[in-house]
Amino acid sequence: MILKHFFFLCLIFTTNYFAQSVEFFGKAIPGSIIVGKGEKIISVRLDTTDIPVDKDGYFIFGFDRDDTTTHYLIVQFNGKSVIKKFILPKRKYKIQRINRMKKKFVTLPKKDSIRVAKERVIKKQARAEIGKLKKALYKSGFIRPIKGGRLSSVFGSQRILNGIPKNAHNGIDIAVPRGTPVKAMADGIVRLSANNFYYSGNFILLDHGQGLNSFYLHLSKSFVKEGQYVKKGEIIGKVGTTGRSTGPHLHWGVQWFNKRVDPQLLLKIKEPFK
Ligand SMILES: [Zn+2]
Repeated sequence: MILKHFFFLCLIFTTNYFAQSVEFFGKAIPGSIIVGKGEKIISVRLDTTDIPVDKDGYFIFGFDRDDTTTHYLIVQFNGKSVIKKFILPKRKYKIQRINRMKKKFVTLPKKDSIRVAKERVIKKQARAEIGKLKKALYKSGFIRPIKGGRLSSVFGSQRILNGIPKNAHNGIDIAVPRGTPVKAMADGIVRLSANNFYYSGNFILLDHGQGLNSFYLHLSKSFVKEGQYVKKGEIIGKVGTTGRSTGPHLHWGVQWFNKRVDPQLLLKIKEPFK
């Protein structure tokens, strides 16, 4: 009887020892996100920064649109560590010319500069919360906020508005009729439900934990409040054309902290979610 227990214990120890493992999901290119999942992880470090791991062994990190450098990820276990190297290739982006943009959205009129500055502060304050939540709410998995619809602008495009070069497009645009319901791409907490901002119109910022965040711009309506927990697929607002927009569409953006991520790459990650 004692011997039987002894064997059983041995089995647990061996299984635990070999359970020190880590897997990565996603492709390392500029604008991508990588989800890691492992067992018995003590810490994870990306280059020189520690990144959080939740109790189920989930962690996440991303590479900005313009990042073409090499990164090292060190996963520390009890007594061993795994080092993974990510070499980012150069990625080509489209050039997008929009010529029927209202003048006030190409060059900011003086009278609106204070308003825009105030809005920037509100956005910054809301974004300051991102990263504090260490729990991986995104382990719900990801969905497209709108099924179907015409993709009117892809991620990363170099924008030229009425002939003037502007910032790159930091999301994707899905053109659908006004009023189309917009769903949360993953479980998250509402950090901002902004009303009538100059460029973004009515918009929502969601925090999915560990620095991952998503935003939904130009809405006609928002159904959520700051601090509210939303489930993946929950309707958070309706499509509109508020702010700098030339017709009803959803601008869907994703970031890891301030790194601009391509939502379409995010959707390709199907595992290791529950
Ligand atoms: Zn857009």
